[in-house]
Amino acid sequence: MSARIIDGKTLADSVKADVAVRVQQLKQQGVVPGLAVVLVGDDPASQVYVRNKAAACEKAGLHSSVIRLHADVTEEQLLDEVRKLNNDNAVHGILVQLPLPGHMNSARVIETIDARKDVDGFHISNAGLLMTGQPLFRPCTPYGIMKMLESENVSLWGAEVVIVGASNIVGKPMAMLTLAAGATVTLCNSKTRDLGAQTRRADVLIVATGKPGMVTGSMIKPGAVVIDVGINRNEHGKLVGDVDFASAKEVASAITPVPGGVGPMTIAMLLVNTLEAAERSQQSAASAATV
Ligand code: NDP
Repeated sequence: MSARIIDGKTLADSVKADVAVRVQQLKQQGVVPGLAVVLVGDDPASQVYVRNKAAACEKAGLHSSVIRLHADVTEEQLLDEVRKLNNDNAVHGILVQLPLPGHMNSARVIETIDARKDVDGFHISNAGLLMTGQPLFRPCTPYGIMKMLESENVSLWGAEVVIVGASNIVGKPMAMLTLAAGATVTLCNSKTRDLGAQTRRADVLIVATGKPGMVTGSMIKPGAVVIDVGINRNEHGKLVGDVDFASAKEVASAITPVPGGVGPMTIAMLLVNTLEAAERSQQSAASAATV
């Protein structure tokens, strides 16, 4: 058996085309959705991510700005920039590119973002809303994966979902979203005993560890849907996922490639979150005006 390849790039293009239409509608009401990205330091991978996010915004008609700060900026200076963006009505989404330099407390920086502009969905109040089943913003990567599963007609109701990797930005919110969709969810971490025994139970297996090729075909239940979140460079400089694609595709029924799988969807969902933040802000301005 050779798995169907889930084409994240094509799906992301269609999500972005929908966003572009809604952006035009909002512009007719005088609102241009705006995203501000704060980049501290000159980490090459972060620079690429930020460039890609800004380019995607511009293509879909959103306004984007990048605030570049030197690596040795103080935390207080960074917090001041975030507060300025909180008070800027033209900015509907604020994203502080992670990781931050070691002298900064990332949690404190994220808590300073106005939760209504927290398009990454990492603010503690957005994490709480997600956990209690009333999400305002869904973190972009898990949100994109939910869209991919939906577009592949994968039913999560009663399904066994196993997630390998339990970070705040991928694994944990992924667990909340799949649980809310009716799945029975297992969340694994580096301490999990006999990982293969867990992964082999999965109808849907989602891997986000940052460990290249760690999940192999023998760890996958025949016919499972496999979502590979990992983005790693191998010794030849090639982008590879956390799943060993060659062996996994012989066992799975459907699988995401790296690149061209989850990555493009993450950016597409950032645009969705920014657009929806702008729509909400426009609605609350309109209802305040009628009171
Ligand atoms: P983190 O390093 O924050 O978390 C990794 C998680 O994997 C931890 O929970 C860790 O366990 C777990 N883990 C590590 N090794 C093992 C192991 N051998 N067995 C089981 N669990 C293990 O990573 P992120 O969640 O930020 O990112 C994961 C990957 O996804 C990276 O490759 C990253 O580049 C990629 N990524 C891709 C995105 C995209 O858009 N496609 C977006 C975000 C991330 P423990 O908790 O015990 O330490």
